[in-house]
This record gives sequence, structure tokens and C-alpha cells, in this order.
Amino acid sequence: MPVLLTVLGSGSAGNATLLQHGESRLLVDVGLSCRETARRLGTIGVAPESVTAAVITHAHGDHTRGAALFSRRYEVPVHATEATRAVWPGPDVRSWGGLECDVPADIGAFRITPFEVSHDADAETVAFHVETAAGGIGLATDVGVTTAALRSRFRRCRLLVMESNHAEDLLRVGPYSASTKARIAGERGHLSNEALARFVREDLGSSVECLVLAHLSRVNNLPELAEMTCREALEASGRSDVRVVVTRQDRVTETVRLDARPARPDALAGRQIALPLQVSATS
Ligand SMILES: [Zn+2]
Ligand SMILES: [Zn+2]
Repeated sequence: MPVLLTVLGSGSAGNATLLQHGESRLLVDVGLSCRETARRLGTIGVAPESVTAAVITHAHGDHTRGAALFSRRYEVPVHATEATRAVWPGPDVRSWGGLECDVPADIGAFRITPFEVSHDADAETVAFHVETAAGGIGLATDVGVTTAALRSRFRRCRLLVMESNHAEDLLRVGPYSASTKARIAGERGHLSNEALARFVREDLGSSVECLVLAHLSRVNNLPELAEMTCREALEASGRSDVRVVVTRQDRVTETVRLDARPARPDALAGRQIALPLQVSATS
């Protein structure tokens, strides 16, 4: 049974991602409106009331906007850290579930470990390392810099959803005020295409098969530019086998499917037995 990841929408106007494994359905952030989240779930054949739970990265509106209403209307518990619950904006959710940094939590078929990242929300911001039957998935949007914790947690994942927020040149010449530019480019702001490329060249684990680029700015980036910068970094490090998927704000991105790796098939055992014979034949 595959694990499926679908980014329902991503960017400064709202973020929501669905993870599925069998009957377990987990929303990571509900930053689109409740109605829009339900509508986009419908386009991939998922009933909103079938969602098991939602987990929240931080209390910025583009990650929380639809959470309370979605939670109450479809009876979906919302998991967030104590710090995020303390600064929760607006109406309350139907029920809270806990999350604690660096402590794994089992939610449905997923084992989720939140860990703190560098971002400027009022309370802590977390990224997620998710262990599934088909391997590890890392999700990190809204990170000013890639920390040592992020690099080590993401090293052995098969699938990464990571921020590729802005092109540094476009941000520099763009229309934002000097203070907003400094905030975005700062250590507690957002990850640029170039910073993600650096991560790809220096820290991408050999097990990573797919990179999903998220939280693209519509003002200071272009999907084609984010993709090209990432692909160039992959090619420069001999990793052009890694699939790149670019998310959008206004539509659902193609679903990424992770099939469970088969436990050592018989054919592999047979090859292992043949190996010494091949070696002796050529020596
Ligand atoms: Zn944020
Ligand atoms: Zn955000």
C-alpha cells in the first residue's frame, strides 16, 4: 500500500499538504480556508470528514487560516505544540492533540517528530520528520536557514518538501520595503532558491528520491526559476535522478507516491549467492 503526498496549495496565501496511507489521512497545516481545503480535497477524491488529524507547523495565518473551522465542521483534531496553542489566532478548534519538539507522536499510520526551525512566528516554528511504512518524509516550509537538526533529520528521508521561497536577485530588486526584504532574507525568514541549492549540493542524503519545492513567492520568484536552480544543483552533484516537483498557490500539485520497499525478495537472495561465482569467473 503506497504512501501518498499531495500539496493542496502552498505559498504566502495559504499552505496545506495531505499525507495518506490506507485509511490514515493527515493534513500538515490548514492555511487555506476551510471551504477551499474541502474543495481541493474533493478534487483528489478525499472526503474532508475522512481526515484523521491535522498538524500545525506554526501560528502564521498562511498555515492556520482554515484550521479551526475545518476541525469543528469535520470533527478533525488539531495537533500543535504548547507554544503554538498559547498564541493560537482566532476561534478554537474542536479538540487539541499535543505535539512536543523532538518527541515522536503516532498519528494514524504516521510517526511524526516535530523539531524547531529558524523562523519568526510568535511561538516556535517546527518542521516535521514523518516515518511511514514506505520510508521517511521531511517537510520544512518557513525556515530562514537550514539548521544542523534539519540537515541530520532529513538526511535519510526518501521524500522532502522544502521551501524555495524567493530568488535572491528578484527579492533585491522587487517592490517590498527594505525592512520586509531584510525580514524575508534574514535567518528567521524564508529559504531562497539559492539557499536550497546549497543544501542540495552539500547536504542532500543519498536516499532522497524526490524534492517538492514549496512556499514559492508569487512576487519574488518564478516556478521555472526555482525548478531550474534546484535541477542545476542536483546535476552539479551527480543527482539528476532526483525528481523535482514544484508546488503552486492556486492549485493542487500532482500526488507523489512512495511505494513500500519490498522486504528482500527471493531474486535478490539468489543474486547474492551468484555473486562469488561471478567474481571468481573474472579473476
Ligand atoms: Zn511563517
Ligand atoms: Zn508561511
